[in-house]
Amino acid sequence: MNGARLEIDLAAFRENVRILSQLVRPATTMLAVKANAYGHGMLPMARAALEAGADSLAVLEVPAALALREAGISAPILAWLHGVDTDFAAAVRTKVDLGISTLQELEAVIAASSDGVPGRVHLKIDTGLHRNGARPEDWPALVAAAVSAERVGTISIVGLWSHLADASPEDDAEALEKFLAAVEVARSLGCTAGLLHLAASSAGIREPEARLGMVRFGIAAYGISPFDDESGAQLGLTPVMSMRAPILGLAGGIATIGLGSADGIQIPAIGAAEVAIRGTRFTIASLDIDSLTVDVSDSAIEVGEEVTVFGSGAAGEATAEQWAVWGATVGDEIVARAGDRLPRIYLG
Ligand SMILES: *Cc1c(COP(=O)(O)O)cnc(C)c1O
Repeated sequence: MNGARLEIDLAAFRENVRILSQLVRPATTMLAVKANAYGHGMLPMARAALEAGADSLAVLEVPAALALREAGISAPILAWLHGVDTDFAAAVRTKVDLGISTLQELEAVIAASSDGVPGRVHLKIDTGLHRNGARPEDWPALVAAAVSAERVGTISIVGLWSHLADASPEDDAEALEKFLAAVEVARSLGCTAGLLHLAASSAGIREPEARLGMVRFGIAAYGISPFDDESGAQLGLTPVMSMRAPILGLAGGIATIGLGSADGIQIPAIGAAEVAIRGTRFTIASLDIDSLTVDVSDSAIEVGEEVTVFGSGAAGEATAEQWAVWGATVGDEIVARAGDRLPRIYLG
């Protein structure tokens, strides 16, 4: 291979998880390892999160939860994005917690629980994001059906939850109010579920009143700030992923590196982004599918030297947050699209 790789700093990740979980205590910490742990690799990050004190894990879909169970992870895992072919029976059997937004989903879980093990459900209300969750007009019927099923032992209502848009503190405050009103409705229908959760990284860090019983942390644990006006470093967090490769060739002062757009490097224009060699920044001169070049003339840089596209920022390199600014996107995108074809090397 050409030496291109992603380095994943597990020690930094564990420290980020510790910092965040301490910040929100007594709320518990659910760590999102969805989207292959935002490109970092689901299983190693799931294990590291639990070692560092995360209480539970979040994935999008049941198959990812089952893969974690097959790997021996027994901690609570929540999955909430279901399709027509979702294997609820396997989820119930392996005690995967299921986010439930509709009566149909609830009925499928009840049917899957027929062998005496109750399905563990978290009923989801839409508080304005309109990305699944029961609408307020459908909420009472969903809760009532769940309460009846719980009474006959086919399900257990573990939690009530929603997801914030994080568009503004005002929007989040309004969503929190809607959520608490929906909880009141559920209580009035006899629902005694103990766990209430609403916040992800953004509200978990800045809106203590939204932490409730649990915060579902994602991007912040990977060392990337959810905010435009404060970096991960300013929050005391360390970026976990670095993208590196050696210089493959040098011709006329132009260095070629075996990383390209197929590895997730996308820049709006040539000249907009920089890599680091020996802690010095060099502007990208060209970008191809498989390679990029930088002009290193007037330097003593040689073939084989290490190039860092992004990393923690500690050695002069740009962070994923900086790449997000260059690419007019968010840091989540930079790490998540960092390419399945690159090997991930786990450190620490
Ligand atoms: C992705 C996701 C999270 C984590 O979000 P971050 O903003 O990355 O912290 C939490 N909850 C749900 C429902 C999600 O989809």
